Amino acid sequence: MTKSASLEIHQINVSQGDCTLVLNRDQAKLKAIVEDRAKNASNANDRALATDVLNSDPLNYLPYCIHAKLSLKDTVKAALLVDAGNDGYGPDVRAYLLKVGAIVPGLYQPQLSLLATHYHDDHQDGLRSLMRDPMDPNKLKLAKQAAAQVGAGHVETTVEAVRPARFFRPAPHDKTVDPKAFRDRSTGLFPAMLAELNNQPTSYTTGQIPKTSVLPIPMGGTNGLQRSVIHLGVDAASQPIDVFVLASDQAYAVDGRTKEDIPNKNPKKGRPSSENDRSVVLMVQYGSFRHFLGGDIGGSTCTIEADVEGKLATVLPTMLPLIPNYRATTAPSHCCSTKLSHHGSRHSNTDQLLRVLQPKVALASTGFRQYFHGHPTAENINRMKPGATWAGQNPTAMGTTLSHILATEIASVGKGKAFDPDTGLNVKVMGDIVLRPVDETVRPRLTTTGTWDSRVTLQIYGSGDFSWVDPSDSRYALRAGEPTPTAGAPGFPIYPIAPFETVCDGH
Ligand SMILES: [Zn+2]
Ligand SMILES: [Zn+2]
Repeated sequence: MTKSASLEIHQINVSQGDCTLVLNRDQAKLKAIVEDRAKNASNANDRALATDVLNSDPLNYLPYCIHAKLSLKDTVKAALLVDAGNDGYGPDVRAYLLKVGAIVPGLYQPQLSLLATHYHDDHQDGLRSLMRDPMDPNKLKLAKQAAAQVGAGHVETTVEAVRPARFFRPAPHDKTVDPKAFRDRSTGLFPAMLAELNNQPTSYTTGQIPKTSVLPIPMGGTNGLQRSVIHLGVDAASQPIDVFVLASDQAYAVDGRTKEDIPNKNPKKGRPSSENDRSVVLMVQYGSFRHFLGGDIGGSTCTIEADVEGKLATVLPTMLPLIPNYRATTAPSHCCSTKLSHHGSRHSNTDQLLRVLQPKVALASTGFRQYFHGHPTAENINRMKPGATWAGQNPTAMGTTLSHILATEIASVGKGKAFDPDTGLNVKVMGDIVLRPVDETVRPRLTTTGTWDSRVTLQIYGSGDFSWVDPSDSRYALRAGEPTPTAGAPGFPIYPIAPFETVCDGH
């Protein structure tokens, strides 16, 4: 079976922060780049490698183009960047977007939308930094080393400030609440970012450039009578790639018309108690494939904040019903893969939600710049390891469905303390993580025996790019990443960290 991948989910390594890129890649244009290289490269070795890649699975085209530093300009039909880490990682994110073709030289990016899940600095600040003039990565001690190198072989070596076509932001739940109150420990950059968006000039010597449309995501994930959906176009077979808004600002849609609050457990603390609760919660859907993005929401084990996860676990089956024939033989499940909410905090990714989501793969966006959290916590990781049981209503308990936990990076020493949240639990450290459902498996198929086969195949690989940690500073060290592929294995020289495939089969 041919394997191609139109939908790409990139968990970009921004250390202690969050940054997810979701995009729809034009497979025909991607192939044309490899064909051109196979035919026209001046070097015979380059032509030979391109020819090998061309004759292999189309899955290999993307990592090959990146490996060969070929421009992926105009191969992305639509891209949604959800959060972008701290300010210091803005240049890295910009370089990454350029490398994968999600942005192109020039200010205006018609294919690009940004979304801030909530107004904490490790999520929103990098978005602001992206939209401003680039900083010199060499001056940023915390930026990844790779940032300075990316683009060296590209035709376009620099991209100025990025102007996305759309910017999605959580809308205030209560219109009487001052938006400035919608933050607690954040740096307060959000009001400044909004002001900058509002004041974007449109007239340049080169002509008119449209402003970014700032689109509030209404509370509860509805927009009038319509469910809020961000459309990322369709694949070559007209299968849509959609991003559903499940919750926003501590509320969710009951039936597409009415909205319901998720109260804090300790009202004495008053609202707003935490930005994390207010996170925009998303589900990426492409055929039978689903990926859950919960921002920094938490669950029932926290005594102060809202039980957003518990509420979602109750309403998810009605809000987003299963696709017909999707894992019909087992307990209903709602996604193939998930980002760990709140970087793997002990109060997040609770049993109640995990047993409804039933993910096969979990991605943890974590890193050495953890100020005080120590994420992912051992408690969280222990909930997911083989043999763990998730408690809940129906069925009352079930074993973990997870077979892979992948982290962007993990500090082995932080602030002078040794840190190892997953001894023996096989959490793989990958740098930037690329997760792609195989196109040919996202539509349920009738098998020769007359049963429906809705098993989705996922391909996953890593970039191996990590934060730069001062080697003379003994208070910090990073855990080593996965080994790079050995030469000789088919396709492996083009992957920074060896790819693997896993099947979402209803477990
Ligand atoms: Zn947060
Ligand atoms: Zn966070």
